[in-house]
Amino acid sequence: MSELVTALKSAGLAPVLDADVLAAHAVDHAGLVPAGKAAALVRARSTDEVSAAVQVAAEFGVPVVPQGARTGLAGAATAVDGALLLDLSQMDRILSIDPVNRVAVCQPGVLNAAISEAAKEFGLRYSPDPGSWQISTIGGNIATGAGGMCCVKYGTTPEYVLGLEVVLASGEVMRCGRTTAKGVAGYDLVRLFCGSEGTLGIITEATLKLSPIPAERLTLAAVFDTTADAGRAVTAIMASGAQPSLLELIDNTHLRALEALRPMGLPTEAAALLLAAADANPAAELVAIERLCVESGAAEVFRATDAEEADALLESRRSAYHAMEKLGTVLVDDVAVPRSRLAEALDAVQATAERHGVVIGVIAHAGDGNLHPNIIVHPEDPDSLAAGRAAFDEILETALAMGGTITGEHGVGLLKRDWLVKELDPVNLAVQRRLKDALDPLGILNPGKVLRR
Ligand SMILES: Cc1cc2nc3c(=O)[nH]c(=O)nc-3n(C[C@H](O)[C@H](O)[C@H](O)COP(=O)(O)OP(=O)(O)OC[C@H]3O[C@@H](n4cnc5c(N)ncnc54)[C@H](O)[C@@H]3O)c2cc1C
Repeated sequence: MSELVTALKSAGLAPVLDADVLAAHAVDHAGLVPAGKAAALVRARSTDEVSAAVQVAAEFGVPVVPQGARTGLAGAATAVDGALLLDLSQMDRILSIDPVNRVAVCQPGVLNAAISEAAKEFGLRYSPDPGSWQISTIGGNIATGAGGMCCVKYGTTPEYVLGLEVVLASGEVMRCGRTTAKGVAGYDLVRLFCGSEGTLGIITEATLKLSPIPAERLTLAAVFDTTADAGRAVTAIMASGAQPSLLELIDNTHLRALEALRPMGLPTEAAALLLAAADANPAAELVAIERLCVESGAAEVFRATDAEEADALLESRRSAYHAMEKLGTVLVDDVAVPRSRLAEALDAVQATAERHGVVIGVIAHAGDGNLHPNIIVHPEDPDSLAAGRAAFDEILETALAMGGTITGEHGVGLLKRDWLVKELDPVNLAVQRRLKDALDPLGILNPGKVLRR
């Protein structure tokens, strides 16, 4: 038995060494990201256990890879060689829901959807809603700064994190942030940990902002003959001062894949379907959105007749990734461009697909200018792989050239690590390295993710 394993056991932990379990835990949902071979897995059940595991890892200089549900799409939760995988998914208790202060306190392994479910009886919800809301953990959501469908109106995960408990690389336990509605004492360390992808500390508790559940939501679906028209409709809607609570684009490739996955009468001949919802004065808001869609060239506009039909449309949008998986291995891009350039970005992705001879379907959190060009590759065919990778890179290049970003919400992980240096200026990069060194001087926390070692 290795010294590491002996030390973990002496610290009261129960390391798992089974090769099959380690292999299953070595990867997340990112396609084509190579995973290392972990030394052991610990399923933490408390902050004390996380702290003990990190202290042992620090003593032996062993990398620690925190893992939530491993639904990440950037290879940030993949194993690195010799790592201790630290599974947080069993720390899954909601510790309190406080309806007066509108906060929930959760352990990191709580699933996103479970928070809204628990807050429902108070007329409250946890707003950020990644497509993976039923399967991803709040710890992972915070560590990736996750977005989602209602973020166009309600914002992304970091805007809802008030306070954190974090185990640092030394094993010390730090609390930061607040439980009050306001508070600006000291540097904003909460924001620092949001999107840090497990490289600065391990989140063991989160205090989250809850919001009232909107009284009513109305949804429409607009059918377009070109994706560029759909993009122009989005720009027109956002320019009009309307406040859609959801504005999502599904392109033809996804419409066909979704219909093949679960037939529900989607318009498979359309170039794009735009889903829009409104939840404040929704009847009037939706009339205005419908008019802008028609003026932008929508061939048809349908109103969801009831909540059930609206939910079915949103559920189909959430299934987009799984539908594309039926076509091959999905290389998921996640670029964001200024909303005003959405139509241009959609055209550019189409041109990239044609130039490289690859299938690229686009779904987009369109109101945020956040595109997910899903590139289909067949890894057993070297030409397909090379073409897919070239298209992936070209899309990143296009986004940067448009003043956009290489990742709107999935994070950098391993997948986009080499692109970070192209997005950030050298001084910014140097500060990022100094922050990493200050918080993790031994370089044991998820090493090689986000920044090269
Ligand atoms: C079908 C599908 C739909 C998706 N839709 C969206 C979407 O709409 N929006 C979106 O943003 N993402 C989406 N994702 C990506 C993914 O679900 C998110 O990135 C999610 O936040 C990851 O959560 P997780 O629990 O799976 O974390 P993991 O994948 O396990 O980990 C992600 C990162 O967080 C770190 N981490 C995990 N837990 C902790 C912790 N407690 N402390 C410190 N670091 C930690 C890991 O080390 C890793 O760096 C989708 C994924 C799938 C498969």
